[in-house]
Amino acid sequence: MKYVGSVRFFKHIIWLTVLAIVIAAFGVGISGYAKSNELAKQVNSLQEQLAALPEKAEPAPLPADDSAALSYQQLYPELYSSANDTVKSIPYGKTAYLTFDDGPSTLTADLLDQLDAYDVKATFFVTAQNPAELDMIAEAARRGHTVGIHSYSHKYRAVYESVEAFLEDFDKMYQVILEQTGQPPEIFRFPGGSINAYNTDLYQQIIAEMTRRGFVYYDWNVYAADTADGASAETIAAAICDGAAKNRFAVIDCHDGSGHQHTVEAIGIAIENLRAEGFTFAPLTPAVTPVHFSYVQEGQ
Ligand code: ZN
Repeated sequence: MKYVGSVRFFKHIIWLTVLAIVIAAFGVGISGYAKSNELAKQVNSLQEQLAALPEKAEPAPLPADDSAALSYQQLYPELYSSANDTVKSIPYGKTAYLTFDDGPSTLTADLLDQLDAYDVKATFFVTAQNPAELDMIAEAARRGHTVGIHSYSHKYRAVYESVEAFLEDFDKMYQVILEQTGQPPEIFRFPGGSINAYNTDLYQQIIAEMTRRGFVYYDWNVYAADTADGASAETIAAAICDGAAKNRFAVIDCHDGSGHQHTVEAIGIAIENLRAEGFTFAPLTPAVTPVHFSYVQEGQ
């Protein structure tokens, strides 16, 4: 921006005028009350003009590499969703959203049968960690569950190395789900949740980029604690029910994967107990108000 004529220029002119008046006052000596009063008025007037000028009227200069920093916006030109445009709401009444991260696995078939036995629809945030089980993604969708993106590799360090690395992993999983279900996925869950120990420097950029692309992400407000040491069907069911008791709108984080047999066993108990408390169950969709972390949580 040109200096002459800029807000900064006029500020400098006014300060110079004030300075000149003060110097002049010293030079001639302040003689008489009327003269100094007149001087004070002029100074006040100038100070008011100065205060009226807008602060920070000049935009900060862009960093030299700004265009390069946002070049990831040009990547994957097909990787967009309209999910963000859907009007969102929290349902009336107690509602529980069972969500399962990290599958499909060798346990997914059992999990789907459990959910069918109770006529409950849930949400699967899936990965490609078990290539032999990928057809269970299609099966989950066929049975009426929502399938969302979790991560292709689920390797935190690699996924959160850069925004570009996140996009690459996300797009790969997007393609797998599209291939399996015939439907483009609309919602996702960050590996480790939206704010975690691996993405503290990047999460704001990644969230901004994925939101710009129209995708909706869900963290959770109830943790099933099924990754805790010594977790059993009873401790998991209790964690789900205790957590849901504090949230009539309960987004429950569970896991589908090797070592999570107890989660499969816990689901029936949890569903029965929550129903007794007046909860109904639903799958997440872009019409459900997202639950987002605003600080780093424990137990991720
Ligand atoms: Zn995960």
